Amino acid sequence: MNVLDAPVTALKQVARSFPARYAGRSVIALGAHPDDIELGIGGTVAALSRGGARVVMAICSIPADFEARRAEAKAAAAILGCELRILMDGGCRRIEDLKSYQLVGLLDDLVRELAPCAVLTHGPSDFHRDHVAVYQAAVSTQRLSQFDFYSYLPTMCRPVPVPFQPRAYIDISHTIDKKIQAIAAHPSQFSSRGVTFELYRDIARVTGRMCGVEYAEGLDINRMVFI
Ligand SMILES: [Zn+2]
Repeated sequence: MNVLDAPVTALKQVARSFPARYAGRSVIALGAHPDDIELGIGGTVAALSRGGARVVMAICSIPADFEARRAEAKAAAAILGCELRILMDGGCRRIEDLKSYQLVGLLDDLVRELAPCAVLTHGPSDFHRDHVAVYQAAVSTQRLSQFDFYSYLPTMCRPVPVPFQPRAYIDISHTIDKKIQAIAAHPSQFSSRGVTFELYRDIARVTGRMCGVEYAEGLDINRMVFI
């Protein structure tokens, strides 16, 4: 047995898994644009769905190529076993087309409808202004109800050095291939632009090494509710 396996094996004997925490409950995975959720937490949402959670992948806006990118997002969500919502639907829009209170209002409506037990979205250290705007709007929705609130790795098509320190690690060893398939379902962002996405398998492998599993995704914890 690999020495790295020992503590995780011990943990599995006593701990309820992350997907088990949300089985039979609603979870919102929130991203500014198509592909953000897949890049940041594709393996996690696939594991949550497989574990019996209702996972809604909520995309705020599609800034270009509306029909093509919506079709890609729909295909990716199907691969991950999740429902898809486009919050600013009907045509190309940008996050900055909305005032911040309007963006909060969109997320409020979603939280009121779905009553999620967890929301996973961008974090405050992201380099993309749209991502930070969505994170800040999601912070405001916490006033409506009690749900676990996590941030995921800053997402980008090409590598950019951005600080991010996970405080929770999700084992995605069984869903890493789904994550890669879901990313590949966005050819407009990757293959057709000559951008490769094996980087995300590498990141998951390195993140897994940090916690003794083959592949993992990291989350920062903004709030967790224990009962
Ligand atoms: Zn984005």
